[in-house]
Amino acid sequence: MTTHSRRNFVRNNLLGGFAAGAAPAAFGQAPAVLRGLRPVVIASGNGNHFKNGGSATCVEQAFRMMTSGADVLDALIAGVNIVELDPEDNSVGYGGLPNADGIVQLDSCCMHGPKKRAGGVAALEGVRTPSLVAKAVMEHTDHHLLVGAGAQAFARNMGFTIEADLNTPKSRQLWLEWKRRSDPQHYLDPDKRAAAGFKTGLAMAAEGLIDGEHLYGTINCNGLSPKGEIAGVTTTSGLAWKIPGRVGDSPILGAGLYVDGLVGAAGSTGRGEANLYGLCSFLIVENMRRGMHPKDAALDALKRIKANTVEKRLLNRRGEPNFNVNFYAINARGDFAGVALYGGPTYAVCTENGPQSRPVEALLSGEPGA
Ligand code: ASP
Repeated sequence: MTTHSRRNFVRNNLLGGFAAGAAPAAFGQAPAVLRGLRPVVIASGNGNHFKNGGSATCVEQAFRMMTSGADVLDALIAGVNIVELDPEDNSVGYGGLPNADGIVQLDSCCMHGPKKRAGGVAALEGVRTPSLVAKAVMEHTDHHLLVGAGAQAFARNMGFTIEADLNTPKSRQLWLEWKRRSDPQHYLDPDKRAAAGFKTGLAMAAEGLIDGEHLYGTINCNGLSPKGEIAGVTTTSGLAWKIPGRVGDSPILGAGLYVDGLVGAAGSTGRGEANLYGLCSFLIVENMRRGMHPKDAALDALKRIKANTVEKRLLNRRGEPNFNVNFYAINARGDFAGVALYGGPTYAVCTENGPQSRPVEALLSGEPGA
């Protein structure tokens, strides 16, 4: 077969595969240009909001770099760095809401589809950009996850600046307000104190002191490059005012993020415990491997979360989850979706048409708490 006829053969077969709705994995090895893919970056809503004083949002920056030839994961991490460094986003990086002791502890992980490599850090203190430390774990160690003091020592040895305190005046002031309200006399027993703390957080969200989405809060960003390469990154300060040492879903491969370079990527924001229980990002990618559209794959994971939520304290009056979880998924063809248990949040997308904020598709109607 000549080169020319081989190319036609590949093209015809691949396009035939598309028409028949073949699963993405079936054409995963083909050159991107023949796969007719559309490069795309998607992220949680904050990915098209914060600019840290610059001109571009996370998804814009990542798309721009990715389509100018940068490595797909480098581009996504440069995007989330904008949000990590922006003091105004109090769910990620510098100025993220601290734990119950007033200390900002950050979690992040990343996965590189083509390289089939991953890295993560959890409960990391003192580094504004945990996503870059997660990438250093991926590139410079044989491991996938470093936590706490060990993660910080690793970051120091890799040349990252370690700061004594990542609070901003705003995150410190919000923590003080939470402390004053939830623990005025320092005598509540631990169970009551945890319950009071969560309730206080919800009340502060209801009063508009903090964004309800940011009681939990995170950025997940996934991309498909023009070369057909897929990667993802998730970075967070985790649950506001968490028990020190608490780690949610964000840095856990399969939970806060999962990437298969031939299939797609999925990541999450929202109540990490609900996602951790079902490793839903892995579930979504496996659903896409079987040919499901990202939207159906992610809605299926939300149904799993709903089915697994049976404890009364986690249910609203309708008997449905009293929290929100969001997923952001793309497949190897450039189809994508942002879904959530409950509507309201937006998600960020950047394609050749520029950055957009779109409403998530909701599994349930109404509000989580009502
Ligand atoms: N999923 C994160 C966590 O549980 C928080 C969030 O996304 O809001 O730590």
